[in-house]
Amino acid sequence: MTQIAEHLLRAKEAVARCQTLALFTEDPPRICRTFLSPPMRACHRQIEDWMRPLGMTVTVDAARNLHGLYPGTRGADRRLLIGSHLDTVPDAGAYDGVLGVVLAISLLESLKGHRLPFALEIIGFSEEEGVRFGVPFIGSRALVGRLDEELLSRRDSNSVSVREAIQSYGLKPSGIPAANLQEGVLGYLEFHIEQGPVLEHRDDLVFTGVASHAGTTPMALRRDALVAAAEWALAVEKDAREIPGLVATVGVLEAKPGATNVIAGECRATLDVRHESDATRTQGVSAFLRNATEIANRRDIKLTSSTKSAQTATQTDPFLVREIDSAVSQAGIKSHRMVSGAGHDAMILAEKVPSAMIFLRSPGGISHNPKESVLVEDVAKAIECGLYLLNHLSSSPEFQTRAHRA
Ligand SMILES: [Zn+2]
Repeated sequence: MTQIAEHLLRAKEAVARCQTLALFTEDPPRICRTFLSPPMRACHRQIEDWMRPLGMTVTVDAARNLHGLYPGTRGADRRLLIGSHLDTVPDAGAYDGVLGVVLAISLLESLKGHRLPFALEIIGFSEEEGVRFGVPFIGSRALVGRLDEELLSRRDSNSVSVREAIQSYGLKPSGIPAANLQEGVLGYLEFHIEQGPVLEHRDDLVFTGVASHAGTTPMALRRDALVAAAEWALAVEKDAREIPGLVATVGVLEAKPGATNVIAGECRATLDVRHESDATRTQGVSAFLRNATEIANRRDIKLTSSTKSAQTATQTDPFLVREIDSAVSQAGIKSHRMVSGAGHDAMILAEKVPSAMIFLRSPGGISHNPKESVLVEDVAKAIECGLYLLNHLSSSPEFQTRAHRA
């Protein structure tokens, strides 16, 4: 069989494996697998069954991340991590996250027992989507020492804390520090389906005026919080259209007291701004907030605003990106560098170790949706690129001497 045919066969198997993992769900027939849920155990068992025949040692850390270690010719100290997350959003597709773990296994299978000068560690992160506790990256945070007290005491909708959830799953929160990355990690690589193209910023604004009677308050004397917020929402739409590539959304206007015959005394508004450049996005947000202040002042309305989340861009490792570039060219594909607007475990790992990602096309740009898909030929190319990359890194002294120090 030619190499290309072999890659295609493995790619088909990888796609089938993603579909197998999709059966481990809290909400059949929809796919939903959240942090420390019973289907996550079954999902781990299945992945272990694929890892063990490759001679991998499989362990689980205190944050329920799955680790499979494939030792190198010089032992297990120097390691390249390859991973992604195993949790999903509610009513998810079959490939977001899962594909990265399954693809890493296919890559190891393609090595056919050949050992590299460094070990490979496949990680299936337990939590990335932030569904259960409203805070994402619980799994990868454990690896960089950021699964702290504040995070452990967060509660889900049933008032169960992260700490309690870990305990009742049969794990020991006292073991979390041991999940920290050890010395000798050479880098982190993540295969992932491509998602939205832009980074986001979220604000909450509260316009406060005076609630008064709709029948007896003359128009000129009103301090209507809802109308002020509405004027601002229109201004945001108009201004956003003038900045190429920027999208801005006022998705919530919540008026209080919210009665037909009462002028709104308070109105909460949300602002979501996205652009691939940190600078443009930040400038956009400042302009929208300045505008809100002007409108509020003119209408004698009090305004407060608070930033709910501001994701700044994470820099990938230039060395790894160059190596990926050349592996992609070697596979006969024109490489395309892109900014990813979605959050990924690589963002967290990049705090400690050189990290980079390889994206596979999502047909129709659809993700976080049951219609999410991936092309078998793209998965085959990803395996091919991965093999070239491992090959380059195996003969690169520069790569093998840049280990992370704990
Ligand atoms: Zn993902």
